Amino acid sequence: MTFKFEMKKYTGEIISSYLFIFRDNLLLVELLDDSAKIPFTSDLTEFNLSLHQKKPIYFGLFENTPCYFIEVSNDDEFPAEMSFENIRSLYGRLNEELLWVAGRAFQLMLWDKNSQYCGQCGTHTEIKFDERAKKCPECNLLVFPRISPAVIVGVINQKQRKILLANGTRFPSNFYSVLAGFVEPGETLEDCIRREIFEEVRIEIKNIRYFSSQSWPFPDSLMIGFLADYAKGQISVDPSEINDANWFPADDLPRIPGKISIARKIIDWFVENY
Ligand SMILES: [Zn+2]
Repeated sequence: MTFKFEMKKYTGEIISSYLFIFRDNLLLVELLDDSAKIPFTSDLTEFNLSLHQKKPIYFGLFENTPCYFIEVSNDDEFPAEMSFENIRSLYGRLNEELLWVAGRAFQLMLWDKNSQYCGQCGTHTEIKFDERAKKCPECNLLVFPRISPAVIVGVINQKQRKILLANGTRFPSNFYSVLAGFVEPGETLEDCIRREIFEEVRIEIKNIRYFSSQSWPFPDSLMIGFLADYAKGQISVDPSEINDANWFPADDLPRIPGKISIARKIIDWFVENY
């Protein structure tokens, strides 16, 4: 990873910096033929933008280049070759490492916006520079960026050499993915996996093992990927969350998630190994 997180104010030499500019949860990029670029501060001096006198917030270095984020309003005008895009839609067009730096910027931008006031007493919070947190000067409440852990599980039927995929109620038809769910307070990741799988498809699983993890900053998830084996039970879906769930062989998959996601990495792993 060539990104270095820093909490302190940037004190190095003032050189051109990456500026992650957000409006309505979209990121400003310069669009070239089939690629996209994050603007530099030097570009913006050229464009003479007011940025509403808000100060961009420094959050770290990417390949030794300082990175700042800022949120702008609809009144700010940008050149025609620049446009506001959904970060996920930039996958394949923006340098992948820079895409995930944009994800960090997005998560921090939302946190900064949502933690302006103390949730306990309503006082204006202050940024702490010795850790990634804000502090209420009145009651000393500390507010850390919210990160919501979620498990995502590839359940494999070893006998049939098939993987469990489901069409969620929010998915387009014929689009299937592995099951996932948010961790409840007090739960271990293993508890969460067993509960989610049972709630959603009424089967029991065994042999849970770690796969890998992925930050999913849309807005604040940490996806923790696992594999597990089918143990017993008949699939019976919870219709409030899932339209259909079934076992699929590696050579006959439905439409599955794009390569940006850990869901796809789990399914690709299954295809390679089964
Ligand atoms: Zn307070």
